[in-house]
Amino acid sequence: MPEVLVLGAGPAGAAVALGLKRLGYGVRVVSEWRRFTAVEGVSQRVLDGLRQAGLQRALACAAAPSPRRVLWNGDGQSINQECLLDRPTFDAAIREDLRAAGIDVLEARVLKVESVADGHRVQIEPGEPLRADFLVEARGRQAPLAGGRLRGPETLSLLNQWQEAPGRPGSAVESLADGWAWMARLEDGRCYWQITQDARDLPPKDQLPDYCAQRRSQSAQVRELFGEAALHPASLHARSSTAILFHEASGPDWLRVGDAAMAVDPLSGNGIFQSLSSALQAPAVINTMLQRPEQAELAGRFHQRRVEHLFLRFARTGRDFYALEQRWPEQPFWRDRRTWPDAAPMHAAADFSQVRVERAPVIHGDLIEEAEVVVTADQPLGIWHLQGIELAPIVSALRRGELERALGALPEGQRRMVQGWLLAQGFRP
Ligand code: FAD
Repeated sequence: MPEVLVLGAGPAGAAVALGLKRLGYGVRVVSEWRRFTAVEGVSQRVLDGLRQAGLQRALACAAAPSPRRVLWNGDGQSINQECLLDRPTFDAAIREDLRAAGIDVLEARVLKVESVADGHRVQIEPGEPLRADFLVEARGRQAPLAGGRLRGPETLSLLNQWQEAPGRPGSAVESLADGWAWMARLEDGRCYWQITQDARDLPPKDQLPDYCAQRRSQSAQVRELFGEAALHPASLHARSSTAILFHEASGPDWLRVGDAAMAVDPLSGNGIFQSLSSALQAPAVINTMLQRPEQAELAGRFHQRRVEHLFLRFARTGRDFYALEQRWPEQPFWRDRRTWPDAAPMHAAADFSQVRVERAPVIHGDLIEEAEVVVTADQPLGIWHLQGIELAPIVSALRRGELERALGALPEGQRRMVQGWLLAQGFRP
């Protein structure tokens, strides 16, 4: 079997490595450790994605759900829940998951990647150069910026951490005139505060710790969640959070996944979920490229279309959330983000005249194949199956005026489900 090398042991790289290992490929992962500590908040969707990827130890790192206070558009406070994740612990658990699956994880920094006659040559430090037939680029936002890409408004997040006495965990998010802040307190007393602003609006680097302390002193949320230590300058790391979509997420013997393919604005709180989404489909894409080179273009197209579709969905979710904040419409931070990436609605309204049958790439088992799918205004990539029922033959029959016959061939329960789906698409018998 060809040798696959995965660059980066974040959730995306790990999900691809585990999937390829299950398909019988020789997989190695090379990664350095993240150079900063961070706390992140994750939803049930992320936990489900980690389970699906087989990252059990990483999944176990998520703390039990704790209350999150939301103060947005000055509309009083609402409270929901999220699970807090200490990233260094989570990243270490990901590597344990990989090793437990028998995957070799090399701890090294990737310095250079070269294409050679028989694949790729990767220079690392420390260590001898590595060779691979296929390369998975999963170095997150640190992956080299190659090729055309779409960038959102330039955004920077300043991460601050300090220690207080252990206490009840919780988190909060609040909108500010020139950005927004997310903050969390872990059970062991570790405190974390992150402000996200336009990259152009910030003071010089050496003034950032004082600047952040001053911003914290103006926040009622900070006073509610933390003690007096929050008012002092803390350890600080600046992290880019600009949304980026790569227009070329694959080649004949390489694939970009996770943040290296598309990185979303952290406001959506979905980064790990979106990185897993592109990674979970990747083993079938790579398997197709390696086993059926004649279908490589189809597999690459499948990956690219999915990545772009997911990116736009997440970017529009972020846009709509920014638009909910209406107190500072002229402030550049809010003005630029509530209209980006476009004005298209999150979900297109049902329109039966647009429902059509097309051939498109789909995942079939461990391969990408072409099949007839039903394209709708809201599902431009097409739907192949509805709970196991192939939809294209039914829509084709309907167009020929033979719907009753097609539905008649289905058991009662499935017939009702398909009828319900057709009505939801705007079909009126
Ligand atoms: P990463 O997790 O970044 O993994 C990449 C790996 O590659 C790392 O281990 C890195 O050390 C390694 N690497 C990088 N360069 C090299 C190199 N040259 N050589 C070797 N190894 C290398 N998501 C959420 O779900 N919830 C949140 O609350 C949240 N908050 C966020 C806040 C901010 C400010 C930002 C910027 C992002 C946030 N995210 C959040 C997003 C989340 O962090 C990422 O989407 C997710 O980690 C991406 O996973 P990945 O596997 O693609 O990359």
